[in-house]
This record gives sequence, C-alpha cells and structure tokens, in this order.
Amino acid sequence: MHNEVKSTSASDGSASPFNPYKMAVQQFDIAAEKLGLSEDMREILRRPKRELTVHFPVRLDNGRIRTFTGYRVQHNVNRGPAKGGIRYGPDVTLDEVKALAMWMAWKCAVVGIPFGGAKGGVICDPKDMTPAELERLTRRYATEIAIIIGPHSDIPAPDVNTNPQVMAWIMDTYSMHEGFSIPAVVTGKPLSIGGSEGRNEATATGVLFVTRQAAKRIGMPLRGARVSIQGYGNAGSIAARLFHNEGCKIVAVSDSRGAIYNENGLDLAEVSRHKQETGSVVGFIHAQAIRVQDVVEVPCDILIPAALEGIITAASAERIQARIIAEAANGPTTPEADRILYKRGVMIIPDILANAGGVTVSYFEWVQDLQSFFWGVEEITQRLEMIMNRSFAAVAEKADQFHCDMRLAANMLAISRVAEATQIRGIYP
Ligand code: NAD
Repeated sequence: MHNEVKSTSASDGSASPFNPYKMAVQQFDIAAEKLGLSEDMREILRRPKRELTVHFPVRLDNGRIRTFTGYRVQHNVNRGPAKGGIRYGPDVTLDEVKALAMWMAWKCAVVGIPFGGAKGGVICDPKDMTPAELERLTRRYATEIAIIIGPHSDIPAPDVNTNPQVMAWIMDTYSMHEGFSIPAVVTGKPLSIGGSEGRNEATATGVLFVTRQAAKRIGMPLRGARVSIQGYGNAGSIAARLFHNEGCKIVAVSDSRGAIYNENGLDLAEVSRHKQETGSVVGFIHAQAIRVQDVVEVPCDILIPAALEGIITAASAERIQARIIAEAANGPTTPEADRILYKRGVMIIPDILANAGGVTVSYFEWVQDLQSFFWGVEEITQRLEMIMNRSFAAVAEKADQFHCDMRLAANMLAISRVAEATQIRGIYP
C-alpha cells in the first residue's frame, strides 16, 4: 500500500514516480514567484545546504551482517541550528529526506522558532527487526551522522517509525562519544532523560489548535464534526483522541495495512486496544473495512492526513468531501490537488503550519535541556497554543492580503523570513 502511494503519480495522470523533492521545489517556486524573490536567492534556497549519505553494517540477531543506508540532510541554517526528525522505512529515499528537510526550514520559520531545516532517514523495515537489531542500527546510524549533528548544529527528533526510545539511544550514543550527557542533541526523548512534558502529544495538539481557528474562520462548529484520519501512529492516533474530546466524531481511521469506517463514530478506546493486540486497525469488528485510499474520500467534515506524502492527488481532490483538511503529515497534498481543492472551497491548513506543534515543543525541550530547567505541562500547552494561534492568524492574514490559499500564504511568510535571514547574514566569504 505504501508502495502504491509512492509509485504512482495519479496527480497528473502520468506514470512517473511521485517525487516529494520535486513537489517541494515546485511549491517553493510558486511562492518565490509570488514574492518576487531574486534569482540569486532562489538559487540558494532551492537546494539543501548538506546531504550526507551513510552506508553502515549492523549485526543481526542471527549473527549475519547487513549493510543499511541512511541519510541526514540540512536545508538552510541561517535562522538557527538544523532541526528535523528521523524516519525509518523501506521506501525512504534521499529525495524524500531532502523534501522533508526543506519543509522543516519553512515550518520553523512560519512559527517563528530559531531553527533551520533538517531530516534524516534510514532504509529499513522496522517491523521486520527485533528491538535489539533496531538499537544497534540506531546507535550505528547515530555514530555515522555524529559528524554533522549536535546540540548547536543539528538536532534530530522522532518521525515515522521512530519514537522516544530511538531518541534515547541516539542521545546515549552521542553522549558516550563526548564523555558526558548531552540531552539537547535530540528532542522527543523520554521524560526521564530530559524530554519535555507535552512533546508526545505536541503535533496532534497543534493540529487541534489550528483546526479550531480554521473552523472559526469558516463558521463550522467543531462539536459534532465528522473527522477522518489517515495514519494511526503518533500524530494520527493522538489527534483522534483530542478531536474526540473536542466533541468531534471520528468516522474513519487507517494505517499501513488498511482502513475502517463507521458513520456513527468509532469507539477509539476499542480501536486502540485492537491495534495494540493485533498490530493494526484492520479487522476491528465494530466498523466497516474500506480501502486505505478511501479514507480521504469518506463523508466527513475534517480530513486529517497523518501518514505519508502525496496521498491527496488531483483525482482524490475532486472527490474529497471534507471542508477542512488539517495536514498532520508532511507533504500529503500535491500542487495539482491544492489547486482543485482551493477552487472547490476546501480549506487546507498546510503541513508547515498544521503539524508545527511537534517542532515547537521540540524547541521548548531543547531550550529546557540547554538551561537544565524544566517547565510544567500547563506552561508548555499555553505557550504552544499562543504560537499556533499567532501563526495561524499571520498566515490567514497573508492569504487574505494576496487572495491565495493557506499553503501559498504560509510558504510566502516562511520563505520571506528565511530569505531575510540569508540576505542579512550575507554570503560567506
Ligand atoms: P508514526 O510512525 O507514529 O505513524 C505513521 C502512521 O502512518 C502509522 O499508523 C502507519 O501505519 C501509517 N502509514 C504508513 N504508511 C501508510 C500508508 N501507505 N497508508 C496509510 N497509512 C500509512 O509516524 P508519525 O510520527 O505519526 O508521523 C506521521 C506523519 O506526521 C508524517 O508525515 C510525519 O512526518 C508527520 N509529523 C510527525 C511529527 C511528530 O512529532 N511525530 C511532527 C510533524 C509531522
């Protein structure tokens, strides 16, 4: 299913493979054009600053050695150290990591936190690996990329198929090499080693905060709104719980194995128990099984893509019934789909804004680690809400000013901030 999503480009009807980096550059070019950015600046911002590819051996439990390939890409670091997650998956590519690094640069700028963009990835199938193998893979990958990561240079975090335990292994590996604990080298760590209150829920909490604002903007009450969610991991499953607590009805959810739908609303506690027991939402009896791609098209008011890139294509854009799309995932909507959805009056809260709660609380975690002084969850949530609401308002104002969709507005705001920092620092030497 994952391959299906990535290997076709139904968006333009062609058979060429979906390429997230091409899409990121396309989005950048649209915003750069609208901003009237100079050719020189476009030349700088269109490309990552660094791309590191590593091939490294890992001993498997059966005694055999396997070589894995991993990446770490840094986009623009003129506003601060590079920041971005690490993804594990069989379909990870350098172009995907480059796209995600570029989006991270814009994301940090749109919410006004002092980081540049980064992303990492390892080609592996964590579902087929034991915890011990994953630990050895993580520690060796961390060692390989240690030449460019660090608390003042590049700070990783969790992403698809990585979690607080993986972050703990990276923090420990890096600290072992330095000879003392350096918690600020990664965020999304467990609380016991310098993690932050609220980090685990931060992405989904941020999605909820901006969706509240979007619903207000189009005059749609959240109470009773039907929500469909693609992806049931960190972002998706927690969003499901938070939106349910807000009075919404979660009608559909999916994971990499399949999707389920119940027009009367899913019992989330039961769905989560089923997923815990069986490893998937598939087979949950109090719901109808649907195809994974149908999750974006079921009757609903709010659609939350929370899995991978490129799943909302031109074809599905015509059939989407939601009034708001809150992009918890990075890069779920192709530019062709963007155009169609804008014309159809569907409001997209773009990824770089919608899911910025994660990196915002990562920023809080980094600040707390650097000063060894920790805040309570209320303070974290309050600060997060303030930043998300302020950023939503700034993007909405831009959209009104330029009569454009929220993605273009967010990209314009973010890119102009990165361009300003790049301009003001000047070109070295
Ligand atoms: P995760 O690994 O916790 O969950 C990913 C979910 O997507 C899983 O349920 C998986 O089964 C599902 N999935 C994978 N392939 C799929 C497919 N082809 N079709 C349907 N479902 C599929 O990852 P996550 O951290 O929740 O990340 C999800 C998205 O949110 C990613 O785009 C990530 O970049 C983005 N994001 C995450 C964070 C964060 O803090 N974790 C922050 C910002 C953005």
